[in-house]
Order: sequence, then C-alpha cells, then structure tokens
Amino acid sequence: MYLARTTDGRRIPATRDESGHCPSCNEQLTAKLGDIYEWHWSHKAGQACSYRKTSTSWQYGWIRHYHGTGEWEMETLVDGVDFDGVHPQKRLALMLALKLDLITLNAFIDTAAQRGLKPVVIFNAKAFERFQFEGYRLRHPRRSDNSWVLFFSHAFRGHARTASLWVDIEQDEHPHFGLRSGLYNLAYSGEFHGAITVHPVYRQRPVFIAARPLTDHFEY
Ligand SMILES: [Zn+2]
Repeated sequence: MYLARTTDGRRIPATRDESGHCPSCNEQLTAKLGDIYEWHWSHKAGQACSYRKTSTSWQYGWIRHYHGTGEWEMETLVDGVDFDGVHPQKRLALMLALKLDLITLNAFIDTAAQRGLKPVVIFNAKAFERFQFEGYRLRHPRRSDNSWVLFFSHAFRGHARTASLWVDIEQDEHPHFGLRSGLYNLAYSGEFHGAITVHPVYRQRPVFIAARPLTDHFEY
C-alpha cells in the first residue's frame, strides 16, 4: 500500500521516521524504501492480511501523484468500501485498472454511484494489449469479446455518461498504439459497433520522475 496509518490516525507515505500501521488489520508495517521502485508500505512476512498487497509501480505512481495534489484522499474507505482515490469536493471516485475486467469494473462503477461519487477509471495501456488500434478505435480481434459493452453502457457519445474512462499511454512502453504519452478519453460511438473510440485530443500525464533523493540504503 502507499499510505499507512499512524497511531494518531494520519495517513503517511513510506518513511523511516515514523511507524506505519495497516488501515485494515492495524499490524505494524515495513517501509519499502528502495531506489528502483515507488516507495510503499508492506506487511511483514507471515502477516496474512492481503490489503493492497498487489499494487504495481504504475498504480503507486498515480497514487503518489494524486496524493501530492492535496485534493484527493487516496487508498481510502467510504462506507467500508476501499477506493484507490476519492475527490471529496468534486465527488469523484478513482480506479486505477490494470485489466479490462468487466465484473470488477462494473462493481466499482455501481459502488461509486451508490455513494454519490462519479466513477473515474484510468486504465493501464496493457489492459488493451490484445486490441487492434485503427482510426482511433480499439477493437478486440475476437468477435465474442464483449468488453466494449462497458463503454456502450457508461460512456456512449452523445448520451449522459455514467463513468469517465481513460487510457494512460506511455509512448516508450508497449502497447502505445503509435500515440504520444497522455491520457486519452475512451467512449462508445454508435457509428462503430463493437469498438471503443479513443479521443484524439489527449491530456498531459504527470511525469513520474523519482521525487526522492537517491540513498545508499537498499531494502528489498
Ligand atoms: Zn493489513
């Protein structure tokens, strides 16, 4: 996880200056402060809790970015449900999605909506690894693949959208579909049945450079 809880209830990124506890099981955590990955907290060996165990450096990069804005509450519980992030003023809920998993995504969208939060999903480009990209449309080569239904249901161009869906492209990483680095809005267009349309105008993505000094301590 990116944020541990202190004994007085604050949420803090990994540090060696304070002890951090798991917000779920309350066990004391180990700060992972390496040079090659995003700093984070981890359960000690033998602790059974799986709270935010499988986060990737891509997710940590985004969580660090949004946490740094001061406007988002990251890794936060709302009525017992864990969200990657919530923007309380704008009433947004964020999911950083590695896969196009319809069950997980629909559950997130429904859960956010039930709490009066507009769902925002940022997909890692790898979620579309197997898609073909042509004319700003993503299409799965297998006709039986129904992942476009998510976009049809929640982001139909010209209709009220019930989710804000984006793909994060890094032009040096596979797959980038020949696009420049940026956040591209994803939608469904009635003209292109069975495909996901990619808006050609992208938003700048934050540059995830290491915002920490290099140290000579390695902890893996
Ligand atoms: Zn835990």
